[in-house]
Amino acid sequence: MKVLKFGGTSVGSAKNINKVIHILDNHSKEDAVICVVSAIGGITDKLLLAGKQAQNKDKNFLNTFNLIKDIHFEIINELIPNDGEKPISTYVENKLSELNSLLDGIYLINELSPKTSDKLVSFGESLSSYIIAETMKNRELSAYRKNSQELIITNSNFSKAEVNFGLTNANIKNYFKSLNQQITILPGFVANSTLGEQTTLGRGGSDFTAAIVAAALNVKQLEIWTDVSGMYTTNPKLVKQAYPIEKISYQEAMELSHFGAKVLYPPTVQPVLDLNIPIHIKNTLEPDAAGTIISDGELNTTSPVKGISNIGNIALLTLQGNGMVGIPGFSKRLFETLSQEKINIILITQASSEHSICLGIDEKDAESAKTAIDSAFENEIALHKIDPIIVETNLSIIALVGDNMKNHQGISGKMFSSLGKNNINIRAIAQGASEKNISAVIAEKDVKKALNTLHEQFFEIQTKQLNIFITGVGNVGERLVEQIQQQKKYLKENLKINLRVIGLSNSRTMIFDEDGINLKTWKEQLATGEKATLDGFFEKTKSLNLRNSIFVDVTANKDVANLYAKYLRESIGVVACNKIACSSDYKNYKLLKRLSLKYNAPYLFETNVGAGLPIIDTLNNLIVSGDKIISIQAVLSGSLNFVFNNYNDSNTFYDVVKQADAEGYTEPDPRIDLSGVDVARKILILARESGVEINLEDILNVPFLSESGLKSDTVDDFYQTLINDESHYQKLYASAKAKNCQLKYVAQFNEGKANVGLKEIPEGHPFYNLEGSDNIVMFYTERYPKQPMIIKGAGAGAEVTASGLFADIIRIGND
Ligand code: ADP
Ligand code: ASP
Ligand code: MG
Repeated sequence: MKVLKFGGTSVGSAKNINKVIHILDNHSKEDAVICVVSAIGGITDKLLLAGKQAQNKDKNFLNTFNLIKDIHFEIINELIPNDGEKPISTYVENKLSELNSLLDGIYLINELSPKTSDKLVSFGESLSSYIIAETMKNRELSAYRKNSQELIITNSNFSKAEVNFGLTNANIKNYFKSLNQQITILPGFVANSTLGEQTTLGRGGSDFTAAIVAAALNVKQLEIWTDVSGMYTTNPKLVKQAYPIEKISYQEAMELSHFGAKVLYPPTVQPVLDLNIPIHIKNTLEPDAAGTIISDGELNTTSPVKGISNIGNIALLTLQGNGMVGIPGFSKRLFETLSQEKINIILITQASSEHSICLGIDEKDAESAKTAIDSAFENEIALHKIDPIIVETNLSIIALVGDNMKNHQGISGKMFSSLGKNNINIRAIAQGASEKNISAVIAEKDVKKALNTLHEQFFEIQTKQLNIFITGVGNVGERLVEQIQQQKKYLKENLKINLRVIGLSNSRTMIFDEDGINLKTWKEQLATGEKATLDGFFEKTKSLNLRNSIFVDVTANKDVANLYAKYLRESIGVVACNKIACSSDYKNYKLLKRLSLKYNAPYLFETNVGAGLPIIDTLNNLIVSGDKIISIQAVLSGSLNFVFNNYNDSNTFYDVVKQADAEGYTEPDPRIDLSGVDVARKILILARESGVEINLEDILNVPFLSESGLKSDTVDDFYQTLINDESHYQKLYASAKAKNCQLKYVAQFNEGKANVGLKEIPEGHPFYNLEGSDNIVMFYTERYPKQPMIIKGAGAGAEVTASGLFADIIRIGND
C-alpha cells in the first residue's frame, strides 16, 4: 500500500485534478493507494477571510462565499459536464448552504472562536475530497471517500490540535484492514477531538494527515505531490537558480521545513521517521521529474550545506540589563512567561556575558509577549536591574541547513562574510549545538538578496552574477551595451560571470527588468520607458536590492557624480567614465574611496584617464606591490593630440578643432579640452592615485589659447576667437617647426607637484611620434628609475572608452 498526498495547487483546477486522477489510476494498478487531498488551492484562505469578514460585520463575507462557491462549481462543471443520477452538484450545493448558514451565524453573533474557525475551514477539504472521489467513481474507477475525521483523533487544541496516536493508529488500522476499493480518498488537515468536535492539524496540515496514515499502516512509501519538483536548495520563488535536492535526510528536511521550506509541513517527518518510511516529494504538474527523496540515506559529503530556508514575520525580543549577570533563573522565568502565553520561541541567543537574551518569535505574538514579560519582570525593571523588553519587528530568519556542516570548518565564516559584503546587517545569530543549522536574523527587506547571495556562495560558487545599472546611453553607453551583449556568453562560459543589465537610463527615460533587460530590444523598450530622474533611478536600483549591483555612469554630468556616495552607501559599486567626482575636491575623492572600502562596494574609474588604456590599474598594481612613483610624464588628451597632429600651415586651427569635435574626440564644450582643464583633471587623478593629497588649483596650467579665447563666454564665441586669432596659433606652429619639434600638450607630475602645458617636443623623444588621438604615459618609479614603464595607445573614442568601462566591470566580477 502507498499513501499519496496532493496539495492545493494539485487539486486547484479541473485540469490538475485530471492529472491527479491519472497518477492515482496508474499507481492503483500495482497496489491499493490511499490519497490524501488538500482543499482546492486558496480555499482555506478564503474561508478564513469570509469568517473574519462575517465576524467584523462586513457584508463582503457574502462575496467571498460566492467566490468560493463559483470556484467549486466551475471545477465540477468542467470535470463532469453531465452530472448523472446522483448529482454531485446537489451534495455540494447542500454543503455550501451549510457553510452559508455557519457564516450567517458568525455574522449574527459577531464572534469567531478557534472552534468555529476549525469547523469553517474543514469545508475546504471536505468538498475537495468529495468532488475528487465522485469524479473518479463517475469514471468507473474503484474509488471511495472516507472522512478522516472518523480516523484521526486529537485533543481540543483548535487550529493546531495534537494527535492522539493510540486512538488514531487503531482507527486507521481497523478501517484499512478490510478494504474493498483500490483507491481511498481522505480529506487532509481535518480531524475530530476525543469529544467529537471538529479540529484541524495546523496550516499545511494535509501533509501531516498523510504521514499519520502512512505510519499507522507502515506503508512502503509516502508521496507528497505538490507544485514544485521536490524540496529545493532554497525557496524557488525567491531564488531563480534554486534546484531540487535529490536526496536529503529526515533531520535535514525537518530543519528546512521548520525554518520555512513550506513545501513540507514540519510535523510530517516525525511519524514516518521512526518507521524509516521514505518521503518522496513529487510535482503533479511534472510527474516525470525526479523529485526529492527524504530518508535515512547516506550523508552527501560533497556539499555540507543542503539547503537554505527562511521564515518571515519575525519579531526579536531583547531582554537586557546589568542585574541579569550571574543570577540564575532569569531565562527560566522568561521562557515560562512565554509558555504560559502559548508563545512559541523560534530562536534563542544569549551573549556569554549573560547581559542580554534575544528571542525570535512570530511577529503576531510580539505585543502580548512584551506585555507579559514586562509584567513578569515588573520589579526588576522598577529597580533598574533590567530594561523594559525591546521589540524589533519586520525581521526574518534565514538558515543554512546540513547534517554534514559540523565536519566542515568555516561555513559560518563564509555565510557571514558574504552577507556582510552585500551590506546585509545581521541582528542575531544562532547555531544549534548539533551544528545542523546556522541561523541569522536579518531585516525582511534583505531576505531575497540574502538567499540569492548565500545560494550563489554555497550552491553556484562557480558563477558570479553581476547586476548592472547604466545611466547615459549616448555614444559610449550604447557601445558598452553592445559589447556586453556580444560577450555575455563568453563571460559565462569562460570567467563564470553572469552579467545582466537590470537598469538603463538616458536623460529622458529609464527602464528596469529584474530578470535582465533584453539587450537586443533595449532601444525600443527605452523609448517607451518611464520618465527618467536621477533620484528615481537611484531609488529603483536601491529598492531592487540585488547582490553585486553596479552603477555605471556614462555621462559627463555633475549631478550624476554627486550621487556616487549614495550608491556606495547602499553597497552598490560604481564604475564611471565621468571624471567629475575623482577630480572634485580632495575631501570628496577621499570620502568616496572610504565609502567604497567601508561598504565593500568597488569604485572604479579606469576610463577617467586614457579611455580604455590600463593606466590607473597599472598604477594601482605598482603601488600595492610596494613600488613608489617618482614622476609621471604623459600626453593625456586624445583631442589635443589630434588637434596638434593635424594642425599645420596649410589649414586653420578653427577647422582642425571643428574636425576633432565632429569625430567625437572633444568634450561637448571644446574649451574643457583646449584650456587644458581636462588634462589637468587627468594628471590630478593620477597624482591622487599615487598617494598625494592635491587639488585642481594646485596644478600649474600654462594656457596656450589666445587671451580672447580664454575669456570667451560661450562655445560659439570661443569658435569665433579661433578664427580671429589664427595668427596666434600659427605662431605656435611655426616656432615648433623651426626647431624641428612637434607640439604636444604634456602633463607632468614630479615630487608631489603637477603641471600641464603645450610643449615643443624634439625628435627622438618618446612623445614625438605620437599619432592621431593616441595617449602615452611614462611612469618613473623606484623600480623603473631610468627606463620608465610606458603605456601607449588610443586614448579617446567611444569604442575604447566603452571597453575600458567593460574592463572595470569584469574586474569587479573577478574579485
Ligand atoms: P501544497 O499546496 O502542494 O501543499 P505548498 O504551497 O504548501 O504546496 O508548498 C509548496 C511551495 O513551497 C512551493 O510552491 C514553494 O513556493 C514553497 N517553498 C518554499 N521553500 C521551498 C523549498 N526549499 N523547496 C520547495 N518549495 C519551497
Ligand atoms: N488546506 C490547508 C491549508 O491550506 C491544509 C493543507 O493544504 O495542507 O493550510
Ligand atoms: Mg503544503
